[in-house]
Amino acid sequence: MRVRGLVRVRGLVLAAVLLSVLTACSGGAAPSTSPGSTTAASTTAAGPPSASSASATAGRTHISAGQSPTSAGQSPTSAGQSPTSAGQSPTSAGVGDPTSPLVVVNKKRPLVPLDYAPPLTTPAVPLAAGASNVQLNPVTARAAERMFAAAAADGAPMALLSGYRSYATQVATYNGWVARQGQAVADVSSARPGYSEHQTGFAFDIAAPTGACSLQLCFKDTAAGVWAAAHAHEYGFIIRYPWWHHETTGYYYEPWHLRYIGVEAAADMHARGVATLEEYLGLPAAPGY
Ligand SMILES: [Zn+2]
Repeated sequence: MRVRGLVRVRGLVLAAVLLSVLTACSGGAAPSTSPGSTTAASTTAAGPPSASSASATAGRTHISAGQSPTSAGQSPTSAGQSPTSAGQSPTSAGVGDPTSPLVVVNKKRPLVPLDYAPPLTTPAVPLAAGASNVQLNPVTARAAERMFAAAAADGAPMALLSGYRSYATQVATYNGWVARQGQAVADVSSARPGYSEHQTGFAFDIAAPTGACSLQLCFKDTAAGVWAAAHAHEYGFIIRYPWWHHETTGYYYEPWHLRYIGVEAAADMHARGVATLEEYLGLPAAPGY
């Protein structure tokens, strides 16, 4: 039946939206928070991702999602352009080094060592209501200060919601999810310890100063979200989990989760239209553990 079919599709979309909110960035949230409470209500209210967003990126994202990791990871401009300087592939640079801005941490690539802890500092940026774990590694903190200042100057102020999370924090969070929901649910609701990009100090979540659409898909339509999508690369940041690239990144769309990779690489990715760090660095897709 058509109506039943529509209901079913809508249900699947909402399930996907819910998962997106519960994945990478809720890794630091208290596991006692019911997955069906605040986030479910808010994502329902927000509705599925807008059609305009979907259509705007559909051509690119759907194709790359279906490509093999190898082809997706090939240099997108094989027509003679080298990714960085002097023909060097960016692939060689630090993907396994947790101190490198190009380190890749995903569901196939844990941190080495698993309990790695970076040097930390607290950036001089506005904090969001309910902010926690707001430290970052020094290079990311300095870049964040520049970016937050530029965003505010452009009339799109942003606030820091969550930055570095330690291995120990993630152990407690993940184990809480396992105890309450079982491992299968825990693995889509919370990063396993050692597998969270937040543990590198290179990643953080932003919010609008008002808290509007915090950790919700509609954040992309806030002034801060729009500004971040357009300008974050100028300060060395990428939207790490872009729309409809979960088969590559392992996480649904998170317009609030920024990752520092350095100005050169971020600008290069932006100029080439490469959506994910995995593709840019020629690494296999990491849809799951
Ligand atoms: Zn995050």
